[in-house]
Amino acid sequence: MRGRIFAVVMAALLVATGSVVLRAPAASAAPACTVGWTANQWSTGFTAEVQVTNGGAPVTSWSLSWTFAGDQRVTGGWNAAVSQAGNVVTAASLGWNGTLATGAAARFGFQATYSGTNTAPTAFTFNGVSCSGDTPTPTTPAPTPTTPTPTPTTPTPTPTTPTPTPTTPTPTPTTPTPTPTGPQAGCVPTAICDSFENQAGSVPAGNWAITYPDCSGAGTAAVDRSVAHSGAVSLRVNGAAGYCNHVFVRNTQILGTAGTAWYVRFWVRHTTALPPAHVTAVAMQDSADGNRDLRFGGQNGALQFNRASDDATLPEQSPAGVALSSPLPINTWNCVEYKVDGRTGTIETWLNGTSIPGLLEDGTPTHDIDSQWLNRTWRPALTDLRLGWESYGEGADTLWYDDVAVGSTRNGC
Ligand code: CA
Repeated sequence: MRGRIFAVVMAALLVATGSVVLRAPAASAAPACTVGWTANQWSTGFTAEVQVTNGGAPVTSWSLSWTFAGDQRVTGGWNAAVSQAGNVVTAASLGWNGTLATGAAARFGFQATYSGTNTAPTAFTFNGVSCSGDTPTPTTPAPTPTTPTPTPTTPTPTPTTPTPTPTTPTPTPTTPTPTPTGPQAGCVPTAICDSFENQAGSVPAGNWAITYPDCSGAGTAAVDRSVAHSGAVSLRVNGAAGYCNHVFVRNTQILGTAGTAWYVRFWVRHTTALPPAHVTAVAMQDSADGNRDLRFGGQNGALQFNRASDDATLPEQSPAGVALSSPLPINTWNCVEYKVDGRTGTIETWLNGTSIPGLLEDGTPTHDIDSQWLNRTWRPALTDLRLGWESYGEGADTLWYDDVAVGSTRNGC
């Protein structure tokens, strides 16, 4: 009973502090797991960061389950496949974080809605074994686990009429099985990916939301079912000239929480060549730079990065610098990949699989490329990804984005 009281006290503490570590009672055998739970909640929703430590034998995949006491409903997750059935939530490891040695931990998170009271769970099961010690872990050498085949409790009735033998063979299907078009299309196992296929309406939802910082005007964005890179769905942005006509579709989760280097990959299609004026297509808030944006877009007709805090550009906007970047081809799907490393403050960019020299900031100042960028120490901590369009005067474009992938290694196209 001490464990129950302990859990209740800790749950109460969670409401007050938002963070708690739940542990098994000391008297039990080694717990199957230890769970740390940190929630940030508002009136109708919350995010939770969960750390699970494997207290048992090494595993190559894991699932952590718990039951919500209230009406909490998970709307999205990161670093785990988080699903919910009724009040029971299961978070399953991904390809890259399934292996956990004894004592090793994995972290994942999710977002959820709720009403009333958001009481944190206090009981968890790890690969089917209770973490709290309620289900004792065997203390004798465990035999090789075998999943028992359940004995049917009701015998299958013997058919009383013989099944007729088919007289015509089942034809072999002549159409191939369609290629899966789900969220993992074109996505390495280590990445968090979104192909927009799970968008149900025309307004971006789930982990995506339209945003117009400061002001709004003619710019619009919508889920599009007429143009797609993979599957049938993409994100369309109708970008107009002038700052207040900007529009972005924001995802605060896809950058994840692991590591401080981000490999971002997306496919983009657009109708209008990049203008001479400065424009932004993708923005990322940098909490280490006064929450000012790191921008990816164009200037002088070629792709560039721009640092909003000091307006530094990569490459420098000399003719020689611009020539080392690349236009963004129109009316075709382009694979854009870039790495932003917060540990070293470096950037590398690939367009359709080729590294672009003018978009390479390697920490060593190079005239016409990154000497302006390196005029101060810069160690970005990116917190969101916004796909859209923003101009600072001239420049309008229609763009489609699809198959976004963010990981700690390069995804490829
Ligand atoms: Ca798609």
